[in-house]
Amino acid sequence: MVFALALTLTTLSSIITDPLISSLLYATLGLLATASVVRGIVANAAAPRGPWLAIAAALLLFMVTAYLRTEDQTLGDLTASRSLVPDAVGFPAYLILGAGLALLVRHRRKLIGGLVDLSLDAAVAALAAMSLAWVFMASPAMAGAHAPLTVKALFILYPTVSVLMVTFTAQLAFTGGGTGDRSSLRTAMGAMTALLIGDIVYTLADARVWDAPTWIVNLPYGIAFSLIALLGWQPAFALITEPVPRSSATARTLRLPVVSVALAIPALVAAFRKDTFEDKVGLAIIVLLLAVVGTLRTSRALRAEEATQQVLAFRATHDQLTGLPNRSAAADHIEMRLRQRLTADASIAVLFLDLDRFKLVNDTYGHLLGDQLLISLGERISALDEPSTFSARIGGDEFVMVLDRVDGADEAVLLAETVRGRLSEPLRIGDIELPVSVSIGVAFADASDRHLSADELLRDADTAMYRAKDSGRDSVVMFDSAMRDRVARRLRVETDLRHAIERDELAVHYQPIVRLPSGAIVGFEALIRWHHPQLGTISPLDFIPVAEETGLIVEIGDWVLDTALGQLATLRRNLADGDRLTMAINVSTRQLLDPIVPRRIAALLAHHGVPGERVFLEVTESMLMDDPAAKLELLNAVKATGVMLSIDDFGTGYSSLSYLEKFPFDRVKIDRAFITGLNRSGGTGRPLVAAILAMADALGLDTIAEGVETPNECDALESLNCGYAQGFLFSRPVPPDQSPQAVMRWGIAQDNGGGAPELAQFTQ
Ligand code: C2E
Ligand code: CA
Ligand code: CA
Repeated sequence: MVFALALTLTTLSSIITDPLISSLLYATLGLLATASVVRGIVANAAAPRGPWLAIAAALLLFMVTAYLRTEDQTLGDLTASRSLVPDAVGFPAYLILGAGLALLVRHRRKLIGGLVDLSLDAAVAALAAMSLAWVFMASPAMAGAHAPLTVKALFILYPTVSVLMVTFTAQLAFTGGGTGDRSSLRTAMGAMTALLIGDIVYTLADARVWDAPTWIVNLPYGIAFSLIALLGWQPAFALITEPVPRSSATARTLRLPVVSVALAIPALVAAFRKDTFEDKVGLAIIVLLLAVVGTLRTSRALRAEEATQQVLAFRATHDQLTGLPNRSAAADHIEMRLRQRLTADASIAVLFLDLDRFKLVNDTYGHLLGDQLLISLGERISALDEPSTFSARIGGDEFVMVLDRVDGADEAVLLAETVRGRLSEPLRIGDIELPVSVSIGVAFADASDRHLSADELLRDADTAMYRAKDSGRDSVVMFDSAMRDRVARRLRVETDLRHAIERDELAVHYQPIVRLPSGAIVGFEALIRWHHPQLGTISPLDFIPVAEETGLIVEIGDWVLDTALGQLATLRRNLADGDRLTMAINVSTRQLLDPIVPRRIAALLAHHGVPGERVFLEVTESMLMDDPAAKLELLNAVKATGVMLSIDDFGTGYSSLSYLEKFPFDRVKIDRAFITGLNRSGGTGRPLVAAILAMADALGLDTIAEGVETPNECDALESLNCGYAQGFLFSRPVPPDQSPQAVMRWGIAQDNGGGAPELAQFTQ
């Protein structure tokens, strides 16, 4: 709409010959453009407003200039009496416009130094334009008339300045950015191009090179103003000033050809002209200036490139948070030291530091404070210039210090102790005081371990650090090769466990559970065994945690369930009163998290024809610790299959029996730790066991004492009225073909629902 109106004004002012009406229309057009820009500023709440206000001001000044020009009749006046008043207004108007555009560009590309580069580029373009103006406008004007120097200078300056404007606008248009601002940018580009054409036509006419009629001279300006008017109404007006990310590809790829074409112009112009002496001097100066600007621009580009390289190199080798070297830098440093050591015959110690309980700080106070803590610790570490020669942050709360010139492993440990002592002081962050302690693993190498690599040394120190954690944190542990063997063994366990089932290396053994005081058998606990062909029998304490970590426990646990239920079914079939026997099976938390497990249990019970109430699933007390609500849901789903639930290792966690009330347990297994030395004088075991038994009784839960090894323990349990017992005193876990013998020896408990112990024909 506005655009159409503006164009109409342009056309009318060109057609109408009456100078008064024509210039009135022209003035209206200028005001319209100015008003549109102001409207754009207000409607879009453009920020910053400064550049746009400058542009609006420049437009007003342009109108005044145009008015003065028609008044003073300066067009084509090459005499000394030519009035310079219009130019005195017009030229500053260009400078204001240029400043506005430059500010827009700077805002758009929040680039330090970007504006200088841009100005240099613009200078190159402007100098090229200057050479053209010199040859085609100033020079003919000078040749034809006795125009004063000021007038000649104007002829060169106007096109030069408008080329500058176009360059700035092109920078705006080509610096990438969002998607919405494209139309605005095109409009701005169009306006500036029209302005440039206008200036060229005007200067040609002014210099009497081309006697263009007034309307042709005015038309490009009219179009420029119309486009500016349009710009003020475009919705994406404000987007022009949105900052864009550094260096967009378009700007870079366009810049090079533009600059080189500009550089070539004066040379070409010089080649095609028959030059006067003045021309030669003028062009020589321009070319010289171009050379200076071009060199400046190139050297700046090179320096920027170098700086970028340095930043990139620093980033690749340093940790962002603490500014310390990172893991790869640490590895490089150690590698270098190791190589030097080969020749210098010195030794090297690597300290692997891990902040104790960092997760707790993060969880309690948030990551911001956690980061603060890491930064402060990093500062503390790098402040320890003795005994360390190099420190790095190589992971979350893990730091590495490298000590050179260490006399031996013992000295390395002593130095590490010093480090631990100096780091373990509370840190004050804001008004929070955080206790700080570190666990340190030390790896030491001297000339005798030539084969060691940096990675191996780091890994050894890491392994030792884990031992330090295990031994209660806030301590120093020296690596020894036994640890390496343990790590290797653990890796072996992990890989071999994957094939243990298919290779038939797993077995289930059964330990009898007896009724107190009679000692008759009520059932068995299924305990898994792994017979490794090379490593021998591996304890479940060693491989169950690995199975849990790797997720293999789901498959293994399922196999145990199937096997143990199968065994129970066999015993039930082959023993008289065998249907009174129970089977206790251990299940790990990870197993229960699998949503298909309840269905799987139901299916296996049905498959083996075993009633759920004869099966006890044992879960450890520790599984209830985190997220009890979710655990309750899991246990209820399992319980719904009809099986019984036992809480295993009771007393080792932090739960109280009353807390357990809301869980669907049927039985409590009192941990072996309470049973051992139950009858020893002065022991605390007895009152504790008595308390657990009383509570369990009140809650209607059965009780089993685990790990009963001596008759004394058994007597004590009997006197406390403990219901059931299990332990080496009665029987070790036995292979499946021996479990009937166990029953034979002890008989099936009568009050387990059975009659007199009696053995049926048993066939394996
Ligand atoms: P647990 O469930 O507490 O099993 C009892 C452990 O105590 C068994 O060790 C058993 O052999 C041992 N034990 C029994 N009586 C005595 C005694 O009088 N004195 C001593 N010192 N120890 C006794 P085991 O078989 O090495 O199993 C260790 C742990 O491995 C089990 O502790 C259980 O948590 C886990 N585990 C065993 N089999 C499985 C399984 O099939 N699945 C899962 N998830 N865990 C299992
Ligand atoms: Ca158990
Ligand atoms: Ca147990």
